[in-house]
Amino acid sequence: MTGRILIAGAGPSGLLCAVELAARGVPCRVVDRRPGPAGGSRCPTLWQRTLRVLDAAGVSVEALRRAGTALERKRFLIAGADAEVDLRSGDGPFAAPLLIRQEDLERLLLERLRALGGAVEYGVELLEVRRNDGGASRHGAGAPAVVVLRGPDGVEEAPVDRVVCATGAAGRVAGVTGPADVAPVGMRWLLADVSVAPEDTPAPGVEHILRDHTGHGGLVPLPGGGHRLFLALPDDPAGADRQPTPAEVVEAARRSVGVRLTGEPGAIWAVRPRSWVADAFVDGPVVLLGDAARSFPMPVHGLNTGLQEAAELGWKLAAAASLPAAAGTELLATYDAERRTAAERIRERAERVLGYGSTVPLEVIRDRLLARVFELRTEPETVHAPGPLTAAGGALAGHRVPEGAGRAAGPGWYVALLPGTGPARPGRPGAEAGRAAAAVAARFGLPLVACPAVPAAEAADAARAPEGVPDAGARLLLVRPDGHVSFDGSPAEPAVLERHLQSVRRFL
Ligand SMILES: Cc1cc2nc3c(=O)[nH]c(=O)nc-3n(C[C@H](O)[C@H](O)[C@H](O)COP(=O)(O)OP(=O)(O)OC[C@H]3O[C@@H](n4cnc5c(N)ncnc54)[C@H](O)[C@@H]3O)c2cc1C
Repeated sequence: MTGRILIAGAGPSGLLCAVELAARGVPCRVVDRRPGPAGGSRCPTLWQRTLRVLDAAGVSVEALRRAGTALERKRFLIAGADAEVDLRSGDGPFAAPLLIRQEDLERLLLERLRALGGAVEYGVELLEVRRNDGGASRHGAGAPAVVVLRGPDGVEEAPVDRVVCATGAAGRVAGVTGPADVAPVGMRWLLADVSVAPEDTPAPGVEHILRDHTGHGGLVPLPGGGHRLFLALPDDPAGADRQPTPAEVVEAARRSVGVRLTGEPGAIWAVRPRSWVADAFVDGPVVLLGDAARSFPMPVHGLNTGLQEAAELGWKLAAAASLPAAAGTELLATYDAERRTAAERIRERAERVLGYGSTVPLEVIRDRLLARVFELRTEPETVHAPGPLTAAGGALAGHRVPEGAGRAAGPGWYVALLPGTGPARPGRPGAEAGRAAAAVAARFGLPLVACPAVPAAEAADAARAPEGVPDAGARLLLVRPDGHVSFDGSPAEPAVLERHLQSVRRFL
């Protein structure tokens, strides 16, 4: 592989993929058919897991927080029941989901890309991908594909090794299997930036979810004031392409969820959602990413999932650029398998949660609320099944590495040694186990991230532990560049980790 990578589409997923590549020193060309960055609040909710992904990519969480506002609670007002859920978990920058206008998120992603030496060529459209199945291309280099681009200087053909189509839900590129032509799910979402009358305005930091016999919707607070209104409305195949007028938005908010608006709604977006996942995310040199790869009936998942896909694709593409061809192809096949499985899971859940706003009887929802049974539309955790990158066994394998487990300084794989939690000697693994883990990590050129600082009392306790005996419950992990655990074993058996490392060595 020579690493000629084209990313078509500089939405959030294309931008983050480019950031991940640039952070690893792998050049790529990023084009977008728009004349410049897109504006608008669009999807404003970033869940905690997504914030961690952005932080790991070097996007300043402080800057994100400055541009956004924390979403602290959700209040459900459903058929007379009134219940609130606290969305915060712990302290620190990832404690609460963040509400941020999508234009600000994209600006910060673009700034990060530029800081890493990357750029976006605006006004350049990917028209076609021509695969080079076997024969040498007209450009001689035997590239797997040739892309046809139209920019300000006319039409250009360029050989590429990989082309990432992050072209969104509406992108259509000749030679690429585009978003499937599946039937919409049978309803419409209507979203708009609105000012809510004082008597209906939620408290700061609180999202309202409203459902009654007349309709289902909600109000999401926007940074800087105002709210993003969302309404689930009956399907309207005849008016599929027509965006409602501001007056129609005001009337729909009043009629379906009883919310009074003041002033004129802006950033109006009506969509008939589809529910589909592409049959393949990787098809030879073509890789699908973000809304170009799948579509969920609840649009908010599109953004959050797209960023997580991008983080995973970024390191895999970067690694594939320097691996032998077969190992690179195999590694990208894991993007296909892992992310399609995750997308199917999110889709299944989104369909179920959507039902709470439509098909599930109102009384059932109200009773669930009164019993404080909530299913929030947060991002479900992606857990990878055993496969080429994930060892079978070990409770943490396939999950994201636990919070507080430390992080490697660089963006690559690392070995992590977690302290035990057993009552015998909580605090840290035995010193001998630490030395053995370090030796295994060093043999594969990987950093060892030891357990975080241990409180003084526990450290003193652990220091009295006999050498060579790991603490009860201590774990020895191999962590992938995207923070998922590839292996979870006991520090008492470093040889088991070594065997796993042998099996993934071709990807390191
Ligand atoms: C007006 C609007 C309002 C929205 N409001 C909400 C909302 O309120 N809530 C919500 O959850 N979601 C909303 N969304 C959806 C949300 O913005 C998307 O889910 C999210 O942006 C998907 O990210 P992405 O990177 O996959 O694709 P996109 O952000 O769609 O980015 C795709 C990019 O590819 C470019 N492109 C397309 N084709 C080509 C080509 N052939 N060559 C080069 N470039 C190409 C496009 O110009 C675009 O910049 C809204 C979307 C729009 C358009």
